[in-house]
Amino acid sequence: MFLSFITVFVKKRKVSVSFLREKFYKSEKASSFLREFSPGFTRGMNKGMQMMEEVRTHTALHILKGAVVKVLGERAKWTASVYWSGNHGRLTVQFDRKPTQEEIEEIERLANEKVQENAPVEVYELSRDAAEERFGEDMYDLFPVPPEVKTLRVVVIEGWNVNACNKEHTKTTGEVGEIKIRKVRFRRSKNLLEISFDVLN
Ligand SMILES: [Zn+2]
Repeated sequence: MFLSFITVFVKKRKVSVSFLREKFYKSEKASSFLREFSPGFTRGMNKGMQMMEEVRTHTALHILKGAVVKVLGERAKWTASVYWSGNHGRLTVQFDRKPTQEEIEEIERLANEKVQENAPVEVYELSRDAAEERFGEDMYDLFPVPPEVKTLRVVVIEGWNVNACNKEHTKTTGEVGEIKIRKVRFRRSKNLLEISFDVLN
């Protein structure tokens, strides 16, 4: 359809292919000019990049959680809350003591090892019953999924982290980039361990 239109166009106007090519080239130049100088387009691009950064930071929460459980054990497997904005994130898990400096360093090292591995971040969509049968309670956090939700999206980093989560994620761990732990705070009165981190570009 498009090609026949070009043929007709060429016949009617008696224009050469090289003329068309030149037109095309010029329009390419025009669009790259617009990309560079149109504020609306730039705003759109910035927004897109910002969203991508948040997807990376959110995915880092899953990677970090896997590392936390590897180092601190099953007692640290309940996530109490998560927060992320821009390249900054915070994972809060239930735990009964302040981790040592060595443990924190090991959590960061293992998380970045998982990033380096570029493992797939798989997403399964299945009925809640099927998900519970397949993944068990490990996919849940302390904050409950409302009972009326009957279909779950379960995010799996094989052998690392399983979590019912309906947010957007990167396709692989490698896309996240380096994870840097910035601050660790243990709130003894609530038995909560907060790990704040940045995802570096
Ligand atoms: Zn998620």
